[in-house]
Amino acid sequence: MNDLIEVRDLSVHFEIRAKGIGGARRNLTAVDDVSLTAKRGQTLAIVGESGSGKTTLALAIARLASGKTTGEVRIDGKDVVSLTDGGLDWMRRKVQVIFQDPFSSLNPRQRAEDIVREPLDNLTTKTKAEKAEIVDRFFNAVGLRPEQKRLFPHQFSGGQRQRIGIARALSTQPEVIICDEPVSALDVAVQAQIINLLRRLQDEFGLTYLFISHDLGVVQHMCDSVAVMYMGKIVEHADRLQLFNDPQHPYTRALISAVPAVDPDLRNRGQKLALVGDPPNLLNLPKGCRFASRCPLAEPRCFETEPPLRVRVGGHRVACHLVDLGPEASAEAVSPSA
Ligand code: SF4
Repeated sequence: MNDLIEVRDLSVHFEIRAKGIGGARRNLTAVDDVSLTAKRGQTLAIVGESGSGKTTLALAIARLASGKTTGEVRIDGKDVVSLTDGGLDWMRRKVQVIFQDPFSSLNPRQRAEDIVREPLDNLTTKTKAEKAEIVDRFFNAVGLRPEQKRLFPHQFSGGQRQRIGIARALSTQPEVIICDEPVSALDVAVQAQIINLLRRLQDEFGLTYLFISHDLGVVQHMCDSVAVMYMGKIVEHADRLQLFNDPQHPYTRALISAVPAVDPDLRNRGQKLALVGDPPNLLNLPKGCRFASRCPLAEPRCFETEPPLRVRVGGHRVACHLVDLGPEASAEAVSPSA
């Protein structure tokens, strides 16, 4: 299976002005030198806590990030960072987004059918009849009834609203959908329905998902591979089995340790880890490893030298000094779980 998305050395910078009149401007790098690939027809999950840069990374890939973007993004071999006008319309049809909050991402004054049709109005030259046929097709594909087309968002449940958002994303028949925390605003029973729907639609339409989430409990049911982000950097990137069975980075191990019910097929062989301390300030990053202030395994060298992202067996990439020691040696230094 070939790579549909290729990202090389991607960074996103924001200029922040300090509080008060005449406050100094400072540069905040929300995504810092990220390289990754996503295979066609598969799901790449991008996980991390709030502020890790995962949503900014996904939006930068879709040319939707508001900050200054540097580096290279190729979708289907095409450089999308340099696209303008007509090229951007191609990109908007090819890459769509499902937003986190189905309560605020839909225009409350638009009927459901108008919401689903809007990308077709903005990005295509299809006739009225063609657009109506597409709206009907995707309304049906997401499990909504034809008589619901004339209703407004407030007349739907949360799960149904997210189905409208999914139908809207499908309307341009994209190849890539960025799912930005698509179930985190929903209750658990509805989350499962939406996850199952996304998986079915992926099979039906051959979609590639970038699945943004802070919740590895959700990601384990959804992804083929996972990139873990911390403070703007990728700290681990592996396929699903590698990451859940044999997580290498202490941050990943702590995130997995916090998942109440890991799939029995995905057993973490390492000891559990708990996060300690607070993350550093992105405007004042420390020397060395960005995770060192919270890492139960930190050594003196971690506070001096930033660990590079190294490739291990099977393409498993990890940025941690301890990875050189091998899994057995690392396990000796592990603190008991909290
Ligand atoms: Fe922890 Fe050091 Fe590895 Fe950073 S490099 S994750 S501080 S052990």
